[in-house]
Amino acid sequence: MNQNSEKWALVTGASRGIGRAIARSLAQQGHPIHVHYLSSESSAATLVEEIRVQGGKAELCQFDVSQLEEVSMSLEKMQQHGRISILVNNAGISKDGLLPALQPADWHQVTRTTLDGFYNLTHQLIMPMARQRWGRIINISSVSGVLGNRGQTNYSAAKAGLIGATKALAREFAQRGVTVNAVAPGLIETDMLKNAPLDRLLPQVPMGRIGRPEEVAQVVRFLASDEASYVTGQVIGVDGGMT
Ligand code: NDP
Repeated sequence: MNQNSEKWALVTGASRGIGRAIARSLAQQGHPIHVHYLSSESSAATLVEEIRVQGGKAELCQFDVSQLEEVSMSLEKMQQHGRISILVNNAGISKDGLLPALQPADWHQVTRTTLDGFYNLTHQLIMPMARQRWGRIINISSVSGVLGNRGQTNYSAAKAGLIGATKALAREFAQRGVTVNAVAPGLIETDMLKNAPLDRLLPQVPMGRIGRPEEVAQVVRFLASDEASYVTGQVIGVDGGMT
């Protein structure tokens, strides 16, 4: 039996883009997957079906990561399938604008999705991982959180905050078999990039091209594996050389 078959992975925001590629990649490693979505039910359901057809195990789950009660109720149901050993905090949004024009809702929605989302899930899942002496928390940050990006004070703050949380939590659990790392993608071809000013951004990428979701997923796959057992508290850029 594949030793990963007991290690459930929850990938938030797995209905589209980077999260979808991560869920697919972890399923290929033999992990059963909770395919999470907020509003894109049909594409999340298609992924569940795809994983099952390929002989894997997958379940669909829906909640808003920023709403603690919704998260708690869903986690309770999910854990009936088995212990969640891998958590990928991937769900995220951007609401761009220069700070003077940024509305309170733009600030709160972005920071709450990333930071409250991190807290709501991780707070509930990390102790069961520690008790088993095996767990992986992988937080999807961004190059914007590392370098800062004009027009993204909210997003950069949220993603930089996630890096701080990653580093602190890694220290808290370093001796208990749970690793905590962040992945900081650069420009990746997903819906999020639809309205990005690529003409301004692309010259900042030494490789001169946009990345693919699968290129992020490969790094997450490694961090989730046994092979990454001595890697914790790190921020791995997947950005074509931007940082
Ligand atoms: P997409 O916009 O393609 O997908 C975002 C995903 O997050 C969707 O599955 C969406 O669910 C889910 N989501 C959004 N808000 C919530 C919420 N409140 N609760 C639950 N789920 C939510 O984004 P990407 O794939 O591009 O981005 C994935 C992650 O990578 C994000 O954290 C993003 O910040 C980060 N990132 C992306 C980069 C890029 O260039 N694309 C660069 C750097 C970082 P649904 O569709 O079901 O509503």
